[in-house]
Amino acid sequence: MSELHKFLFEGLPVRGMVVRLTDAWTEILRRRSSSSTAGTYPEPVRDMLGEMTAAAALMQANIKFDGSLVLQIFGEGPVKLAVVEVQPDLALRATATVVADVAQQASLSQMVNRDNLGRCAITLDPKAKFPGQQPYQGVVPLFDDHGQPIERLSEVLEYYMLQSEQLDTTLVLAANDQLAAGLLIQRLPLQGAGNLAGGAGSWANEDQIGRSEDYNRIAILARSLQREELLTLDVDTLLRRLFWEESVLRFETLRADNAPRFACNCSRERVEKMILGLGLEEAQSILEERGTIEVACEFCSVQYRFDPVNTAQLFVDPHLRGSTGPTAH
Ligand SMILES: [Zn+2]
Repeated sequence: MSELHKFLFEGLPVRGMVVRLTDAWTEILRRRSSSSTAGTYPEPVRDMLGEMTAAAALMQANIKFDGSLVLQIFGEGPVKLAVVEVQPDLALRATATVVADVAQQASLSQMVNRDNLGRCAITLDPKAKFPGQQPYQGVVPLFDDHGQPIERLSEVLEYYMLQSEQLDTTLVLAANDQLAAGLLIQRLPLQGAGNLAGGAGSWANEDQIGRSEDYNRIAILARSLQREELLTLDVDTLLRRLFWEESVLRFETLRADNAPRFACNCSRERVEKMILGLGLEEAQSILEERGTIEVACEFCSVQYRFDPVNTAQLFVDPHLRGSTGPTAH
């Protein structure tokens, strides 16, 4: 079962999390492979999407936010788009759009950042929005301060966290066909007396970037974690091996009902609205060409089929007419 573990370093301003997506991840891969149109991911794409999924679960679990967290890479290269969406209860889904061949050992930039034009976007979409409210979005490039392409997704996201939260963060990510896993270590914001001593609020936190010796020591230990270790060790062994000299306080593990899990919120109703949005003429021309309208969900590969009778019903039944209904002809 997939699991998420939170922990603190006793007496130090540092916290951490480990996520291991097992069934949640293999379900995403299984559904993709079962799709007749999309097909199995090339290995480098699979591993990139797995790392994104682990990272998005960690980021969602790390914030107190009632809404979905969406991590996207707008690629420029054979992978046009990679998306992970995680709900506050850690229900998650992920998909990637592959438009050309991907080499066996393709790097991150070979997949999504050939000419340094790829982007990574993190969107926080609140559940309850006031009228006109837009989701919050942060966009970071896939290159460093010197314009050099970044080859590790973890580095891209560490930079985002530093920008958005003014907090030092270390991420280690890895994925294969069985598991998507991640370790997050983060410096905690100073509170109370610490803030008063250092100045006001975020000022004090910004001043602390890179300066906490405790954080720096633990971050170095975290970075020593090898991909293979992250993919093979259970969490107890992993934390003991990395932080055996530190005092780690574990919190209750999120398992079973609270654990990260695969879930897709697509529905026939949404597809109906989409077809209505196309308009009667367009819908009929698809029917003439193919006999049925078939729409597959990119996240879960469920096929929604509409034969001529279903389609005709859509356009006459007033209850199914949404605001995006067809224009009458
Ligand atoms: Zn779906």
